[in-house]
Parts: sequence; C-alpha cells; structure tokens
Amino acid sequence: MDRRSVLKKLIAAPLMLPSFSLFAQSGGGLPPHHGDNGFINTDPDFEEAPFTEMAPWIAGKFGDIFSKAPKADIPHEYNDGSVFKENKPYSITWIGHSTAVIQMEGKNILTDPVWSDSAGPFRIGGSPRVSEPGLDFTKLPPIDIVLISHNHYDHLDQSTIEDIADHYPNARFFVPLRIRDWFEDKGIRNVEELDWWEGVTFKNLKIICTPAQHFSGRWINDRNQTLWCSWTVLGKKKLYFGGDSGYCSHFKNVGTKFGPFDLSLLPIGAYEPRKLMKPVHMNPDDAVRAFIDLRAKKMLAIHWGTFKMTDEPMEEPRKKLTEAVAAHQMSADDFWVFKLGEMREW
Ligand SMILES: [Zn+2]
Repeated sequence: MDRRSVLKKLIAAPLMLPSFSLFAQSGGGLPPHHGDNGFINTDPDFEEAPFTEMAPWIAGKFGDIFSKAPKADIPHEYNDGSVFKENKPYSITWIGHSTAVIQMEGKNILTDPVWSDSAGPFRIGGSPRVSEPGLDFTKLPPIDIVLISHNHYDHLDQSTIEDIADHYPNARFFVPLRIRDWFEDKGIRNVEELDWWEGVTFKNLKIICTPAQHFSGRWINDRNQTLWCSWTVLGKKKLYFGGDSGYCSHFKNVGTKFGPFDLSLLPIGAYEPRKLMKPVHMNPDDAVRAFIDLRAKKMLAIHWGTFKMTDEPMEEPRKKLTEAVAAHQMSADDFWVFKLGEMREW
C-alpha cells in the first residue's frame, strides 16, 4: 500500500461502520471470487460469452453511438414528490432503469441512481436515455442510503452521485469492493465498501452485500478490477436489490439465507443477443426463476425501458415478463411493472 492509500484509509477510517461477515472461510485465504487478475464469477455453470462473437457485436454498436436516441413508448406518471412527505413506512417509486426511491422504516434509500441523459464515459455518445426520469432530481426526499451494485455507467453516474453528495451530505453510499477510491477521488467520504456476504448495521437496518453474476469496468484497462454485487436490506421487512446479474445459483443461496423477501427489485432487460448477454443479464423468464429462488413476495421489474444498450426492442421486456409469469403459473399481481414515476406501498 503506498503512502497515498494509507493516508486515504486513515482519513476514511472514522466514518466506517463496524462490519460483520457471513462468509464461512475454510482454511483462510481469499474468498473464491477474488481472482488473480480481478474478481470472478463463481457459479460452476458460468461461461463467459465468446470474445470472437462479442467483439463484432460491440463493433457494430459503434455506429449507434452518435445517432439520436430511438423513441420508446414507456408509460410515465406525473410525480411531484409530495407523496414522500407522507413518510409511508414502505413505499417504492421507479425513476427508470435500476434507479428507485425506497422508503423503508423511516429511511429513504436510492438504488443505482442515474439521472443523466446517456450512460457512458463522455457527455455525448454512450447509451442514450429514451425516457425521462420518473421524478425530477430536486423532488427527492432527504436521502439516507445509496446502494451501488457496480461501476458500469448505467449504474454509477458521476454527475448524479456528485449531486447527491452536494444536496444530501449525510447520505451514506454502500459500494462493493474497490469502488471506494472512485468516490474519494471526488471528495466523497461517506462510503461503506463491502465484500460479498459482509454487512453493516446502519440506522437500524442491516445492509448486506450479496453476490451477483456480472462484470465491471469503466474503461478498457479496468475490467473486473472492482466488484459487482446485489444488496440485501433487513429491517422489520426484507428487501432485495438485484443490481445487474445473469441467472445463477446465488439467488437460491441468498433466498435460503435471508428470504423470504417482502420486495425484490430484479432486472428484466438488456438480454439480446441472448447468447452474448445470458451470462450477465437475466431475461424476464430468468427473473421469474430468480424471484422463486429468492422466496420473494413481490417483484419490481428494473433495468428496462430507459437506456438503449442491447438489441431487444425497448418495450419488449415488460411483455415478455407477462408471458413468463403466466408460463410459471405465478400470480401476475406479484410482478410489478411500473410507469416511470409510479409509487406503490409494499
Ligand atoms: Zn452492468
């Protein structure tokens, strides 16, 4: 560790909460998802999409970068934020993509907050936003907790994070391993950095970093150098935020350990071409299976209808979810597909 890192650790130390670990390590050493050259997915069935097929698909996307955002018909509901003042014990509002405002036992929680017009390393280009955020940023309630699942641009948005830190200096950011530095470089110190199966107690909620099957990176030289995760939040009720993930055995592990969940937020979009996306992005059928594995009572569909990133039509995920719910003979009432800005109690 160099002097700068030591100094950073010392500066950050007073703000860190005591953490607990649920990882049962046999024989010491690092957990299996800590690889030699970065973090790795540990499900025995995980198979990375072949580079020879991924590279031409990505190359084909370059043509789209500077073209106008496609139009998408994603229903929108007017929300002026006044409903947050009612301080409902349990509510959830969908802003778009993986961003939601959750009210839980007196705390206001934000998931993967992104208010920007596009998701990418530059102000122009990147994946264009095809639908307006469901709530103006200025109408948010005072934010206590921000859950970050990984560092891809459609989940970790610099301008939104800086706005949150400016407007809500007491907000605490919960991030998976190796993302703290990104925040500290921007002068943000209210950060809890956790490994899979580590948790902290914050404002009477147990916040636990749980696994996901995905990858990370914001540039060409940092692939998998930071961790990706889902989040489990335990209070009187139980909440699960799935982040970004392919379908895998971790849903069953988390469901067994912490379920049944009162509410789960699960991604249903960015699944085509299937062969390339399957390892890292669930489709609606996968999300229903994850919902069953988690022993969840309700699900909010996220990661759709907002950024054009993959090949399926923007409106398709919600239709496919309806089909998947019917195919699994589940109750449609338990699978929530919101309008942008819509709030429900849970
Ligand atoms: Zn991602």
